[in-house]
Amino acid sequence: MAKIQMKTPLVEMDGDEMTRVIWAQIKEKLILPFVDLKTEYYDLGLPHRDETNDQVTLDAAEANRRLGVAVKCATITPNKARVSEYNLHEMWKSPNGTIRAVLDGTVFRAPIQVAGIRPVVRTWEQPIVIARHAYGDVYKNTELAVPGPGKAELVFTGADGVETRALIHNFKGPGVVQGVHNLDSSIRSFARSCFTYALSEGKDLWFSDKDTISKTYDGRFRDIFQEVYEQEYRAAFEEAGLTYFFTLIDDAVARVIRSKGGFIWACKNYDGDVMSDMLATAFGSLAMMTSVLVSPEGKYEYEAAHGTVTRHYYRYLKGEETSTNPTATIFAWSGALRKRGELDELPELVNFADTLEQATLAVIEGGVMTKDLALLWEGEADVTNTSDFLDTIADELRDQLGGDPGAEEPEDEPELITLVDDEGEEIEMEVLFRTEIDEEEYALLYNEERELELVLRYVWNEDGSEYSLEEADDDEVVDRVLDEYEQALEDLGEADEDDGEELT
Ligand code: NAP
Ligand code: MG
Repeated sequence: MAKIQMKTPLVEMDGDEMTRVIWAQIKEKLILPFVDLKTEYYDLGLPHRDETNDQVTLDAAEANRRLGVAVKCATITPNKARVSEYNLHEMWKSPNGTIRAVLDGTVFRAPIQVAGIRPVVRTWEQPIVIARHAYGDVYKNTELAVPGPGKAELVFTGADGVETRALIHNFKGPGVVQGVHNLDSSIRSFARSCFTYALSEGKDLWFSDKDTISKTYDGRFRDIFQEVYEQEYRAAFEEAGLTYFFTLIDDAVARVIRSKGGFIWACKNYDGDVMSDMLATAFGSLAMMTSVLVSPEGKYEYEAAHGTVTRHYYRYLKGEETSTNPTATIFAWSGALRKRGELDELPELVNFADTLEQATLAVIEGGVMTKDLALLWEGEADVTNTSDFLDTIADELRDQLGGDPGAEEPEDEPELITLVDDEGEEIEMEVLFRTEIDEEEYALLYNEERELELVLRYVWNEDGSEYSLEEADDDEVVDRVLDEYEQALEDLGEADEDDGEELT
């Protein structure tokens, strides 16, 4: 099998700890044997970020802008403990935050569903993708504790010095007050990312907020979404048979629970924070949650939603066996390769990405899985370590890719054998069925015109290479084979009838 060729390189962002270990194994076992992988490699592992004063993160984000599609390994966001553990020059910012700031994107999180691990909500048949706005609101708030009686006001001073005031509350006693904001430009980017992603995934888009109560603030979100939809996306949505749907957040929650899934749910920052954790838990596990950053210009960065799985890494360093789940990281790779394939019009690459995902799911659904999944699995699971799990997926992937995609299904292909008759003539025949009797085999065979030959006995030559042909002589054996023959004819008759029905 020839390796699948790529046109444009992926931006590959390597990371830290256990996920870095898994990253290398996924490439070695699941990608490199099948794909002539082209990547522009950026090492976002913490030591290299520190060596480059975090320049490598900016370079990687710029490469993502330039090349369009990136795949990212989980990375450490340093805190105080990490500064001393890695002897860092500085407490570097979250790489995800840096990349998001460059691309100005929205993060979409989607659960990977497998048969045998049922969502807590029984009606959910397809994933629900959460799109969380990642700017402003309560995450950039200003708060005050109100000590006692007094007046709280909102004051906006324009660049021209003109003041606008609004009363928040006349306090009669102590309380609290908070100011939050958002930007039209950020909301518009958020809306564009959502519409772009919905089109790229072929899914309906829901957006919800509370504009009945927050008429100006949440109302602005609703208006911008509607405006962007009408002006930029309505035609494409209608052509794709997709809907954009606004509803109040409380109504949305009720509808989500009753739904079958299969749509994208765009939420404001706080709603998205809460709802994504609820959905992740209800669908199963963080290790089965994918994440993709989509910029308003349609640049994509794929990753797993979980972190670097530090606890497993420390065990790995001690030489202990780990059963870390690589599924979400595999799906980050398949997501990026599929998108690259779509953009570069490489159907083989798209097919490879699909098959990689199917093979991964087939292995899990076949009962082979990591420890975290075994806890959720309904049947008896065969728990493996990460490396064996990846080997099993590689075998399955090889099997699934083995057949020529253009060829007929194997079961539809007739089995042919070449027999040599008394005069030494070769005859090619279709095997209808086989029955084994001692070392000899009796089979009913059709010739090329699909006319029935006699019940024949054929015997392997000693080297197994050819058959010789003899008429059956044992009555008992002939009777038995004839019975089986009748059954086979009946089955065949049924199959032919089915074919006939399909034709009319
Ligand atoms: P984490 O790496 O997601 O792991 C938390 C726990 O969840 C693990 O200890 C493990 O539980 C379970 N888990 C997560 N992923 C798993 C997997 N693939 N297979 C099996 N179990 C899995 O979160 P964390 O420990 O809070 O954070 C570790 C580091 O990751 C931090 O330095 C943080 O900054 C970073 N982080 C990075 C990203 C990112 O790059 N996108 C996101 C989040 C966190 P058990 O130990 O019980 O088995
Ligand atoms: Mg949260």
